[in-house]
Amino acid sequence: MFSDKEEFKRAFSEKLEAIQGKKMESATDVDAYRALGSLMREEINRNWSQTNKHYMDSKEKQVYYFSMEFLMGRLLGNNLLNMQLLTVIKNGLDELGFSLSEIEEEESDAGLGNGGLGRLAACFLDSLASLGYAGHGYGIRYKYGMFDQRIIDGYQVELPDQWLSREFVWEVRRPDEAIEVRFGGKVEMVNHKGVPLKCKHFDYEQVRAIPYDVPIVGYENETVNTLRLWSAESNDDDTLKKASHQSGSDSFLEHKRSLEEISEFLYPDDSHEEGRRLRLKQEYFLVSAGVQSAVRNFERLELPLALFPEHAALHINDTHPALVIPELMRVLMDEKGLGWEEAWRITQSSVSYTNHTTLSEALETWPVGLVRTLLPRIFMIINEINERFCQTLWEKHPGEFDRIASLAIVADGVVKMAHLSIVGSHSINGVAKLHTDILKEREMKIFYDTFPERFNNKTNGITHRRWLMHANKPLSRLISESIGEQWMQKPDYLQDLLKNKNDKSFLHQLGNIKQQKKEELAEFIRGYTGLVVDPSSIFDVHIKRLHGYKRQLLNALHIMHLYNELKENPNFNMTPRTFIFGAKAAPSYHFAKRVIKLIHTVADVVNRDPMVNDRMKVVFLENYSVSLAERIIPATNVSEQISTASKEASGTGNMKFMMNGAITLGTMDGANVEIHDLVGDDYIYAFGLSSDEVLEFYRNGSYSSRQVYNEDDRARHTIDQLIHNSPFSKGEMEFRDIYDNLLMYNDEYFVLKDFASYIDTQSQISKDFLDAHLWNKKSLVNIARSGKFSSDRTIQEYASDIWKIQPSGILK
Ligand SMILES: *Cc1c(COP(=O)(O)O)cnc(C)c1O
Repeated sequence: MFSDKEEFKRAFSEKLEAIQGKKMESATDVDAYRALGSLMREEINRNWSQTNKHYMDSKEKQVYYFSMEFLMGRLLGNNLLNMQLLTVIKNGLDELGFSLSEIEEEESDAGLGNGGLGRLAACFLDSLASLGYAGHGYGIRYKYGMFDQRIIDGYQVELPDQWLSREFVWEVRRPDEAIEVRFGGKVEMVNHKGVPLKCKHFDYEQVRAIPYDVPIVGYENETVNTLRLWSAESNDDDTLKKASHQSGSDSFLEHKRSLEEISEFLYPDDSHEEGRRLRLKQEYFLVSAGVQSAVRNFERLELPLALFPEHAALHINDTHPALVIPELMRVLMDEKGLGWEEAWRITQSSVSYTNHTTLSEALETWPVGLVRTLLPRIFMIINEINERFCQTLWEKHPGEFDRIASLAIVADGVVKMAHLSIVGSHSINGVAKLHTDILKEREMKIFYDTFPERFNNKTNGITHRRWLMHANKPLSRLISESIGEQWMQKPDYLQDLLKNKNDKSFLHQLGNIKQQKKEELAEFIRGYTGLVVDPSSIFDVHIKRLHGYKRQLLNALHIMHLYNELKENPNFNMTPRTFIFGAKAAPSYHFAKRVIKLIHTVADVVNRDPMVNDRMKVVFLENYSVSLAERIIPATNVSEQISTASKEASGTGNMKFMMNGAITLGTMDGANVEIHDLVGDDYIYAFGLSSDEVLEFYRNGSYSSRQVYNEDDRARHTIDQLIHNSPFSKGEMEFRDIYDNLLMYNDEYFVLKDFASYIDTQSQISKDFLDAHLWNKKSLVNIARSGKFSSDRTIQEYASDIWKIQPSGILK
């Protein structure tokens, strides 16, 4: 594109004038962001149309990754990296008096997701394009993404995320590709000589799904895939016709609003389903638009429908898009005229499903009445799938009523979306070894016993391009200086770093880079919060959604405990630490919000107390997001991954930290188990109950938090401070609910049970950190072993085991 920086500078200044009407001297960073985005789009568009043409001509199989969430973050820096334009453009901008990093700040952080699940989808898109696979995302273009978190007096306040108020330069609106989606109405079977022949759907409400396409640029190849985000609009003619039947002058606008509401908000609950009508509308909106568009793309190949599964794979990210199954059945039967058997074969061979959690509160079920009124035809099809499924079970296991009842898709007045997903797809995968084992042996055991061949594991991953090459350039440079650049294409080569395991000078350089990143973060913290932190202290970081099972409370109680130790014994030998938190709580999650308040209270007490605050500080960084994660992770020494064992399906934050040389302090949960397997006991701080122990306690009910409280002085003393007169409670009852949760309600997440083990492990960390050589060696081994967690590895496994696709010919 730009062979040198002079050429770039010329093009940039022309673009600035052409689209912003400004000369260089008066251009702001926003002008520069728009001009740069527009220049890059020209280059991207060339490869985009080439890629699409290639996919059409070769007729190769296309993967459609359906996800209600895509937590993309900013794209400018990542696109520059993948397009190999970073150096030319950075230097060119410098000479023109702009700073690339400041221009990057002008882009809004696309937060169309809650956390891990949405970020996984974003990492997968990057890997699909970078490996040259024909894989695309289908999602919703929420007008407001994940809420903006503000902390006021220690309490979380949610503001709408107005991410579109700044122009998002990457999207292209494509009204010519719009799809009609139908809700409500009535369904009749048209009979011919007593045989139901065709389904007639009428009196429905119609919503127009308009695609906004975002190009997904592959790394150093010419592949540009598509993230297609659907936006709901009313078809004004249709709406007007409807409204004219109703009285009242507002009915047109009201009706229009009620349709457009569908793509307005992202539901801000992570691992928790609310079961709201609008949410079901959102799910069907995505699914119907996506399925119809995938079928339309297939029809452009002019092949018989029976070949659909050889040319399209529909993947569902958790059960949120599970209606893909009945929707594809509907399109194939009602619109394309196929019979049930053929439609079912096509559907099952095209659809695959990823399970993300075993938490019961996260399992989606929809009341039968709601599905029937909102989606009458889909409801009929689900019922038919259920009846046929139960019938085959009956033939296989005659008389086993209990088995059939527990496997049924429709039962107890609800539609069970996980059951629908399993029955309607050919592959079901968990997201880490432990999680898949728990699915097979416990949570989905009866399904596993029925369809063992469908179950498989795909341990999650993260894109090393964003999380290492983009977020930590000095570290990337050091790695390449030592082992060459192959690791960028094949991250397994990071293992070659192990040759430096005992190299004093290399480990010293590694330590220096961490130090530099910590200084940058300390500076950022000063600007963001006003707090001054010591960059030579241990940076101990706990960033993720706030949830009971993620146990931010355990971390907070440990800080209270350390504070007590320092107050009681001012000579208590403690390696200085900076505790850093970032976490959003779902707006309706009362307990999680109390924990946020507790962290702020603890921070207040600690940070204001001159007796301790030369040795500890507590920082809460508000509005945790992808761009904040990119700043924090490279500067971390200790990665807090302390979920109650068995509860965190995989985690992906743990992988980002490992790749950036932080040491995991974690339970044997999710992918922490696999980190442990890769690095060995000496390079991870593992503590706490095992998942088997936790599950055994749940089964036999023998855990008593009261007993731990009675026997463990450190735990009792700390817990009591939540409600008794103490610097943390100040005699108020703010933390009574937390106290009750731990004692009256028997501590569902085993915080007290793991408290002692956590304190002891933290104290070992304090000792080990003082030996810089030892610590840097731990850091090195973690980086070297982290290649497995590149999402490139994960995507290659999905490609060969589930989707049966090969890299496309476009890959250079
Ligand atoms: C990676 C990431 C997550 C997931 O973190 P976990 O620790 O695995 O829960 C959540 N939010 C953001 C912004 C992320 O980048």
